[in-house]
Amino acid sequence: MIQFKALGGAMEIGANSYYINFFGTGIILDCGQHPRKEGYDSLPDFSLIANDPVDYVIITHAHQDHLNSLPFLVKLHPYIQVITTPATRDIAEHTLHNALNIMREELDPIEAEKLFSHEEIDMLAGSIIVLPYNKPLQLAGHDHKLHEEITLTLHDAGHILGSAMVFLECAGRSICYTGDINPFDQAVIKGASYKGLRAEILIMESTYGQTPDTEYKPWQKEKERLGTELNKVFNKGGSVLMPVFSLGKLQELLTTIWQLMHKRKVPFTDIYVNGIGMKLNRLYDRHRYLVNMVDPNFQVTGTGYRNITTIEKKEDLFKEPCIVMASSGMLNEGTLSYTLAPLFLQQKDCAVFTAGYMDPKSAGYAVANAKKGDHIYMPGHIKAIPVKCSIKKFRFSAHSSADGLTKIAAEINPERVILVHGDEGAVLSMGSILLKKMPHIKIHAAEQGKLIDL
Ligand SMILES: [Zn+2]
Ligand SMILES: [Zn+2]
Repeated sequence: MIQFKALGGAMEIGANSYYINFFGTGIILDCGQHPRKEGYDSLPDFSLIANDPVDYVIITHAHQDHLNSLPFLVKLHPYIQVITTPATRDIAEHTLHNALNIMREELDPIEAEKLFSHEEIDMLAGSIIVLPYNKPLQLAGHDHKLHEEITLTLHDAGHILGSAMVFLECAGRSICYTGDINPFDQAVIKGASYKGLRAEILIMESTYGQTPDTEYKPWQKEKERLGTELNKVFNKGGSVLMPVFSLGKLQELLTTIWQLMHKRKVPFTDIYVNGIGMKLNRLYDRHRYLVNMVDPNFQVTGTGYRNITTIEKKEDLFKEPCIVMASSGMLNEGTLSYTLAPLFLQQKDCAVFTAGYMDPKSAGYAVANAKKGDHIYMPGHIKAIPVKCSIKKFRFSAHSSADGLTKIAAEINPERVILVHGDEGAVLSMGSILLKKMPHIKIHAAEQGKLIDL
């Protein structure tokens, strides 16, 4: 018996979390937090599995929308076993503490008191079972119905440091969950290694399911365009704000710009970064021989960035051309990119360059889609902000194109596909693309809480 239920991340990129009952063993795939919602609204709906067996949770990677609800789940199910890759465990140890601090600020003090503590996060991180890529692990839950155990294998998903695809096999049945996946090389992380992998049931992300391949830019092309646009701003004496996520995008773009500077495509300028990103850069370096890197000898910490705290006044950022890579990538309220964006937007010689996916309801989406002369309403600001700087939208994607996803699905060669992790339009479009290429397969669009018998 195999059953599937989405606890979050159905028809959206939110609190991604999917429940599998695999012959009586309860396995949760990812345990994310909605990037735009606050407090308890941002968690997956764990009440949907109140009467189901819960034995394991497998975390594909350490992005907020896949990891950050883990302490809540562990509090609800203290005996659950957490499994992830060594790199994801190391990242989680840092990012979960950060997430707790943010959560405490969002909740009223009485509710915040009830949250888990930093000590509990330390204990949780210490209890995680780490599983390197390509090493099978046998699993069996408390109520496992078969003599044969489940074999779990993780494969490199090419999305960020430590990201994994999950393969589960038992009694001739098999499931693959892609997590977030990218078959193409970025600047640091090599593309996913999925060749030769097969599964009967494929649970697949669909972030770019609706993006035509003509709009999906190869990394190298975007790198050249970034070089051209950086030069235009620097020639006017302006500075550039790049809102980026601290995990993944920061390391990839630091490396991309370092390469442009060393090839003399753009002049050497100061690059400022903030917060937890600097710790994550060190983790990229520490794990560089254990995951598939484009150049394992390259070190992100060698790209010569500076901590933004070395700047005394924000106005100093405009004295000479510089690049500021500030989190969060979507300009979430209260973050450095959110604070700096209004300053940059009103400087006529400066620019804001966005680099990846933006939730349509985020402030980052409004900025990415604005142009000179527009007025932008940002949450928390009473007045509209006039756009005087130039805005450029880049697509340095850590996700696959729709075409790439179709190729991955064809290689895995499933009988059924369950589409998750995408806006409604992206999921539906991905479904129809897959059906055209593989008319013999059955396709489901995951719906929150709806049980699918497999
Ligand atoms: Zn991700
Ligand atoms: Zn994701």
